[in-house]
Amino acid sequence: MSECIFCKIINGEFNTEFVYEDEYAVVFKDINPKADTHLLVVPRKHVESLNELDDEVLLGKLMMTVKKAAKAAGLKSYRTVINTGKEAGQEVFHLHIHILAGSIKL
Ligand code: AMP
Ligand code: ZN
Repeated sequence: MSECIFCKIINGEFNTEFVYEDEYAVVFKDINPKADTHLLVVPRKHVESLNELDDEVLLGKLMMTVKKAAKAAGLKSYRTVINTGKEAGQEVFHLHIHILAGSIKL
């Protein structure tokens, strides 16, 4: 069984509510929100970070998932962030895209 927290979430081990999901990714609320709305778009496939991603199609699919999840959440204006590497603030080493909207404290 994977030790990766996001893999565990994807596998349903914490009963995390997915605010949006599709074939490629799940979307859930960040546990420590840095904005009024703070969502994480997480690929179902475990990839450590953007540096380890070599699947251009998946990257495109993830960005489309960002757009669809934002729309589903009623967001018209939002910021997307990908932290890559420890020094840049990456804490969870399973690729994810932050969606931040409203008052952003980041
Ligand atoms: P990053 O710093 O880019 O790796 O972002 C990791 C994010 O995951 C942080 O904003 C954390 O608050 C969030 N996070 C960590 N554990 C969980 C969890 N169990 N459920 C939801 N969000 C989490
Ligand atoms: Zn993982």
